[in-house]
Amino acid sequence: MTPTPEESSEYLIIGAGILGLAMARTIREAKPHASIHVIEKESVPAWHASGRNSGVLHAGFYYSSDSLKARFTREGNRFWREYCLDRGLPMNPSGKVVVARTEVEAEGIKELKRRGDVNGVDVSIIDEKELAEIEPNAKTAGIALWSPTTMTVDPNDVAKTLEKELTRSGVRFFYETPYQRRIENGSVRAGNRVFRYHALINAAGLHADRIAQDFGFASDLLLLPFKGIYLESEDRNHATLPVGTNIYPVPDLRQPFLGVHFTVKVDGTVKIGPTAIPAFWRENYKGLDRFEWTDFREIVGWESSLFFKNDFGFRDLALEEIRKYSKKYMVEQSRSLVKTLDPSRFTKWGNPGIRAQLLDTRKRVLISDFRVEGDRHSIHILNAVSPAFTASIPFARWIFDEYGKNGQWISPEKGSMHS
Ligand SMILES: Cc1cc2nc3c(=O)[nH]c(=O)nc-3n(C[C@H](O)[C@H](O)[C@H](O)COP(=O)(O)OP(=O)(O)OC[C@H]3O[C@@H](n4cnc5c(N)ncnc54)[C@H](O)[C@@H]3O)c2cc1C
Repeated sequence: MTPTPEESSEYLIIGAGILGLAMARTIREAKPHASIHVIEKESVPAWHASGRNSGVLHAGFYYSSDSLKARFTREGNRFWREYCLDRGLPMNPSGKVVVARTEVEAEGIKELKRRGDVNGVDVSIIDEKELAEIEPNAKTAGIALWSPTTMTVDPNDVAKTLEKELTRSGVRFFYETPYQRRIENGSVRAGNRVFRYHALINAAGLHADRIAQDFGFASDLLLLPFKGIYLESEDRNHATLPVGTNIYPVPDLRQPFLGVHFTVKVDGTVKIGPTAIPAFWRENYKGLDRFEWTDFREIVGWESSLFFKNDFGFRDLALEEIRKYSKKYMVEQSRSLVKTLDPSRFTKWGNPGIRAQLLDTRKRVLISDFRVEGDRHSIHILNAVSPAFTASIPFARWIFDEYGKNGQWISPEKGSMHS
């Protein structure tokens, strides 16, 4: 029998989404000579959420000031803007307006402004006249919020560029190499190999909870998949585009989703979405693709139970979101944000993305902030929900500092491999 091939590194990262890449970059910055391996089950980086999101660099005004989201989003926005500028990657710096559909929602605008001020984000309240100057087609009930630092990038471009830079810096990527199981402290089986490491970082997106459980973490936690679909216009003619600025509704701040909105992509085309439709298995992108029976049983079991008891308004959310499978309904939803909209321009469904949203199964609530668990051998990134693309670099730096405080995690050469 041929022996199983073995690879050894100081750092082993699971997942080549934006968080895995951001962790690799952070470690490389701090430790230029460390050996870093990244294992990824797909054949390219950012195949899941990191390459299938809205591409919005959020400004950071939605989040309460005590959250990790508030701490990292503004800085992440600045980091990626400079990164894209330096490398000549396309960006659309068109900003964003949040509009109110009712007078009650106008109160929500004031709350967003208050949060923005506390978080040190450049936002201002504007009236209808000022709104018309920024985005003539947007409509609002009295006041709106203007965020000049919100912008869009091509998330795939960004991730692929970063992956190339990491490869050049000596980081080794192993594609089509799915993590399978933990063998013991310091080694895992992935693909047809054994990977030995000093410290492991689990950045496996939709599957991060299961991997964390192999290491004794994430008990009472489950990643619930919510599907985000978009309606796209292929129109590139600026004279006929419905909007030139990102337009969002006032979100229900009790839910972690921002509501259907208009996003202006880097090429100037416009998309409406995304939804947050409960999916039936983790990679339930289309039809029966990537169907997994045990996954289906677990996810649908939980969704049925949450639906039945209407925990955190899950039944209302699910019933509302499922209606958005109708193109007509999606267009109607977005119509309330603008003065005119020609539905015939939005006929094509775009690439769906799936949010890995963490559920606390004991308290039966969705966790809204980022969540990380770990010790000096393994770190598990468990709720890298939006805006984790924007926040990824400062978030990764924080994880690195937080878990490396005592020097053991970040300085393997100083300690024993594993005690
Ligand atoms: C519809 C949608 C819209 C969004 N819009 C925005 C936005 O506009 N702005 C923003 O900032 N954020 C947005 N987000 C959030 C953002 O996309 C995510 O927060 C971010 O991409 C999470 O990155 P990640 O690396 O944790 O996960 P992923 O991108 O899912 O990466 C995880 C990686 O791990 C790999 N993996 C999983 N299991 C294994 C295994 N067993 N072995 C090896 N590899 C494995 C996967 O293949 C994957 O490549 C959006 C998300 C969605 C779904």
